[in-house]
Parts: sequence; C-alpha cells; structure tokens
Amino acid sequence: MARHPLDLTGKRFGALEVLEATGRTPKGASLWRCLCHRCGAETVIEGQRLTAKKSPKVDCGCAYRDKRADLTGKTIGVLDVLKYTRTSQNGDRLYLCRCHLCGAEKELPASTIRAKLTSCGCRQYSSERMESMSRMGVAVAIVDGANIPALARKEANATSHTCVRGVTRLNDGTYLARCQVRGERWWQGGFCSIETAKTARDKKQKELMDKYNIELDPQPPD
Ligand SMILES: [Zn+2]
Ligand SMILES: [Zn+2]
Repeated sequence: MARHPLDLTGKRFGALEVLEATGRTPKGASLWRCLCHRCGAETVIEGQRLTAKKSPKVDCGCAYRDKRADLTGKTIGVLDVLKYTRTSQNGDRLYLCRCHLCGAEKELPASTIRAKLTSCGCRQYSSERMESMSRMGVAVAIVDGANIPALARKEANATSHTCVRGVTRLNDGTYLARCQVRGERWWQGGFCSIETAKTARDKKQKELMDKYNIELDPQPPD
C-alpha cells in the first residue's frame, strides 16, 4: 500500500485545475481528475506528472494537439486557410490564407490564424482620426466567434457615430472603444457590438480613474 498522497484538490498547475482524487493506477500512483482551462476538457492525470520538477503537465495535451492539427480548409476569423506551406524555425506551422475583406493571400503562422483576426491588416478606418490612431498602433483586433462576413457586408451603410460616448463604428462594421483620462489615452478595436465596446470602455475608464484617483466622469477625446 502506497502512502497517502499529497492532497492536490483545488491546486492549479498551468492551465490544469485539480478537481478531485479519482483512485490509483495498478502501480499505486494517485490519479486526479483535472479541468483544463485552456480547452475546457476534463482529464485524469497522475499526481506525479503534475508535481514533477522536470516538464510537468500544464494542460490536457490540447496545446500539442492544436500545434499538430491541420487547419487546411477551415475559416477562422476573416481568413480562409488554403493550404499548409511549411514549418517555421520555431516549430509553428505556416499556412497560405485568403482574407475575406480584401481577397489578399498571405502566409501566416497557425498561432496568428487562431487569434481570429478581424482583418489581414488591410482594414481601413473611417476617418483621418482613425488613420492616425492606426498609425499609432490600434491594439488587439480580435472578435471572438463573431460572424465576420456578415459584419463585412454592413460596410456600405456604416456610419461613424453610435450615440454612445467613446464608441465609434468602423468601416468594416466593428467598433472602436476609446477613452482618455489625465492625458493617458486608451483605445481598442475589433468589438462586434456597441455594447461590448461600451463595456470595455467603461471598465478601462474606471481603471484609469482609479489609477489617477479621480471621482468625476472625465470628458473623452472628441
Ligand atoms: Zn486542454
Ligand atoms: Zn485583408
């Protein structure tokens, strides 16, 4: 009989959260049922593989599976993945992709494709102000699970005003959120609705106000 194992319940190892003990292997090693926060799957893992000093388990194996999976033929974000081309020096698989918005074909690494891009870099902004922002580097343009072709079709009737302070509609139908507190400017593009843009903006503004110890609602840059 092996000695009583360390209780790992509730502990976190990388993306793995230990839910409960779930028996032993025939050789007596303790088994733990874990939730993988990277992919949402549950998996059973030997305790010593979690606590190992040398290359411990940090997910259910999904990172490896994703890395190996073939993306050919899939549509992810605005990209149609046409074909596998080669593997880069750091082991990332590269694919030839076509952008829904502009039709351009580009070779991109799998990790970039999986980020569900809202454009291949071709997206035009609705005014000179947006252009200057994009030159300054508009942050993260990711829409999780949004219907990109449908959004792109709305381009024709796009207007930049949304009646919501700090939220601007862009030509491609997505929304840009922005705010400014004490000269510190923040903006983020790629929101699929006014509501999500407004929520992000309100949250960021509160953060900045807390940072500068401001009570009153400051004016956004208009
Ligand atoms: Zn996983
Ligand atoms: Zn494009």
